[in-house]
Amino acid sequence: DAALPSHARVVIVGAGQAGLSVAHHLARRGLTPGEDLVVLDRSPAAGGAWQFRWESLRLGTAHRVNDLPGMRELGLSFDTADRGRAARDVVGEYYAAYEQHFGLQVFRPVTVTGVREAAPDVASGRLRVEYLRGVVAGVMAPSTTADAARGAITTAILVNATGTWGAPIRPYVPGIETFAGRQLATPEYRSAAEFSGLRVIVVGGGTSAVGFVLELEGIAASTTWVTRRPVSFAGDEPGEASASIEGRLAAVAQQNDAAAAGRVLPSIISGTGLPATARNLDALRRGVLVARPMFTSIEQGGVRFADGSFEPADAIIWATGFRSELGHLDPLGLREPGGGVAAAEGRALRDPRVFLAGYGPQASTIGADRAGRLVAMQVLEALEQRDAEDD
Ligand code: FAD
Repeated sequence: DAALPSHARVVIVGAGQAGLSVAHHLARRGLTPGEDLVVLDRSPAAGGAWQFRWESLRLGTAHRVNDLPGMRELGLSFDTADRGRAARDVVGEYYAAYEQHFGLQVFRPVTVTGVREAAPDVASGRLRVEYLRGVVAGVMAPSTTADAARGAITTAILVNATGTWGAPIRPYVPGIETFAGRQLATPEYRSAAEFSGLRVIVVGGGTSAVGFVLELEGIAASTTWVTRRPVSFAGDEPGEASASIEGRLAAVAQQNDAAAAGRVLPSIISGTGLPATARNLDALRRGVLVARPMFTSIEQGGVRFADGSFEPADAIIWATGFRSELGHLDPLGLREPGGGVAAAEGRALRDPRVFLAGYGPQASTIGADRAGRLVAMQVLEALEQRDAEDD
């Protein structure tokens, strides 16, 4: 295992689409990975959150996955990737090849547990990035560790690119604790076969929920799809993620506003509608995708709706979205009363040393190249300014 430096100019936390894109742009502009540019990732392998997605998920069934900057140089493109293979394998392999080709050394598994002022050396203006290096028991619970060693790196700049996969949202519904069946969130879903013969409730209005409903057809004894808001399927082309340019722009603007105000970010799907893929349209025609409004309480054996009706259930799948994983930044006190970190164009508004890649409207692979470049350019400016001050 390569030794981790104790100091860097830039530390990137997270080697998913967002972190790799920033790393690539910084490396191209002269930073040396493994020395002054250190990329840390808690996952065991390349692939970001994709490596944990269920086996049946294919590229192209959700949205289009954009290529990383420079990926075509390797002869790779997600546009021409094998749709018959598991997305997690394809993305993992592509990212691994990408990291190797561009020499983007990623230190893994390294879990960042806290970022704070490099006290007692606060005057240096440096940040101290504390981590656990080694196998971490369960990506969903990074604090439970086995075999991991503590360490720290000081850095001038931190780029946070930790995504959302480790922070699924599970809304509170009265009676939730009384449910006798199985409850799980999207990251815990493995395969439809686990629900064979069961009565399943799928909650959520996003692509994951739709995917689960379709997978469970003919395998679960019954599938009830429940959404908190009415859903629409839109887009002229199969695979188009949004109804219209206006709808997409409005959704991005809403996310921008929330990010700038430090509010928890709204779902992008709620603004754009679900993709009208051939698969989804076919399921709509067959009456498989009929959503019921959200139930109002949960009982031991199922869920009860506002009209008093009861749906018996053996399992509830909560596909109810994610929050940004930012808990390790808490020692810096960046959170606003609204619960989020105020950010604009990937820059934390309260701390010029902290950048957030893949946050808010950047939180999909769609903007990864542009978002990565935007963050990288600002990072370089911040470094230049720092160097000028040090002179
Ligand atoms: P991630 O891929 O989540 O990468 C974050 C990395 O940070 C991970 O490798 C993780 O190990 C690491 N990390 C987190 N916390 C720490 C820590 N404390 N210390 C060290 N490392 C840490 N988008 C699309 O554009 N197209 C799609 O088809 C698509 N399909 C999707 C399907 C599903 C089921 C879901 C849930 C999302 C989908 N998305 C899709 C959105 C997708 O998550 C993003 O597009 C993108 O891959 C996220 O990239 P990221 O780099 O921000 O995050």
